[in-house]
Amino acid sequence: MIEIQTRPATEESVTPLKLSEALRLGAMSTEQWFGEMTDGHGRYCAMGTISHAIGIDDGDMRYFPSTFLTPARDELRLDDGCCRQTLFYQLWMQIAHLNDFHRLPRERIADLLEEAGL
Ligand SMILES: [Zn+2]
Repeated sequence: MIEIQTRPATEESVTPLKLSEALRLGAMSTEQWFGEMTDGHGRYCAMGTISHAIGIDDGDMRYFPSTFLTPARDELRLDDGCCRQTLFYQLWMQIAHLNDFHRLPRERIADLLEEAGL
């Protein structure tokens, strides 16, 4: 017989992964994709990678993390003109832009998210 012990949940044990952590984790086991969340064969854009890493099924990727809908962050603007001039309303638009337009590696996008405290 197996005895299972439980402990009260601490804040640390229930805090979800940060976006940067989820992106790094997912990038370790998947390949990058561009232009859509997933190619359906194990490749994911940055947003798809985050969603996949936190357990959102490929078929449910329209239910992505609510953090994606928070306001755009200056930390995610590259200093190259286009990111400075483009109007981004929400965080997901910047993540998609960095992935699809700049084709930044997901690890680099994770660095930028981390710098933004995300
Ligand atoms: Zn840009």
